[in-house]
Amino acid sequence: MTKKMDNLLDSLIVPPGKQIDLRNDYDPGHIGHFMSKEDAGEAIAAGISLLSLQQDKLYAQDTYALLIIFQAMDAAGKDSTIKHVMSGVNPQGVQVTSFKVPSVEELDHDYLWRNCIALPRRGDIGIFNRSYYEEVLVVRVHPEFLDRQHLPPQLRDRNIWTRRFEEINNFEKYLADNGIIVLKFFLYVSKEEQKKRFLQRVDEPDKNWKFSAADIRERACFEDYMDSYEDMFNHTSTIHAPWYIIPADHKWFTRLAVVSVIHRTLDRLHLAYPTVTSEEKEALLKAKAEMENESEGPGSTRKEEKRSGGKKA
Ligand code: AMP
Ligand code: MG
Repeated sequence: MTKKMDNLLDSLIVPPGKQIDLRNDYDPGHIGHFMSKEDAGEAIAAGISLLSLQQDKLYAQDTYALLIIFQAMDAAGKDSTIKHVMSGVNPQGVQVTSFKVPSVEELDHDYLWRNCIALPRRGDIGIFNRSYYEEVLVVRVHPEFLDRQHLPPQLRDRNIWTRRFEEINNFEKYLADNGIIVLKFFLYVSKEEQKKRFLQRVDEPDKNWKFSAADIRERACFEDYMDSYEDMFNHTSTIHAPWYIIPADHKWFTRLAVVSVIHRTLDRLHLAYPTVTSEEKEALLKAKAEMENESEGPGSTRKEEKRSGGKKA
């Protein structure tokens, strides 16, 4: 990775312990030192194929897990970013979980529960399309959602959001201490670009399914969401689980930034295929020699097949 790219990715991190001003410090239309989609094409393709090699090692090594959290306003491009960035990886080692409005069963548990049972196992990449962060975003913008959470009344005070930030930080520290690497991406789309994409969803029949009237209701709270996001970044960007604010007005830049951050994070883990001991190596070579010396004696597959007319039972 070039120094320039490294610096670009660093500039997207919310510095732990510092207070950011979302609207002034970050720009949804930012494209770094890239000129256009064409200019970034090669870097995106390279990132996707490098990620595929890294995932193979992550899986084989079976030591770390990677949890990637995506948060964003509607139409910021979460789904398409996941689709493109993960297009080269082995599906066996990746699970995507989309967190929707909680079900009755989910509401009967603490708010981390449904996230816990979806955590990736070692060797795997788990993607959360939305997450427990909704608990300090949509629930904060619409505090009436707390009514359904069966909380003891004395715990529904005005400190609930600060407490949740603390709980989330503790939870993520716990994950980090267990070898689960947490990456958090906020796809930062502007209100104008969201409008453009919403209009496309109405105008293009193949995109109609993506649009609902509820999306317009949430759009009306855009600024409230930005306030909640900002407070959330200022409380939950930590050394062990930093937030990345990914400019999302240009989808190609979003993909480039996300794939590059994932690639860089895995690179720092120095992943490697497991090596075998000299005894294990000896056993492998013995097995190889046995296979090479196989004769078509009784029990060989070919003979069995002949006897049964070539059909397997
Ligand atoms: P979508 O991702 O567009 O399919 O929408 C999922 C919806 O579920 C969004 O409007 C989220 O705000 C909502 N949602 C996700 N998690 C929660 C939660 N914990 N409490 C309330 N609403 C949620
Ligand atoms: Mg939606």
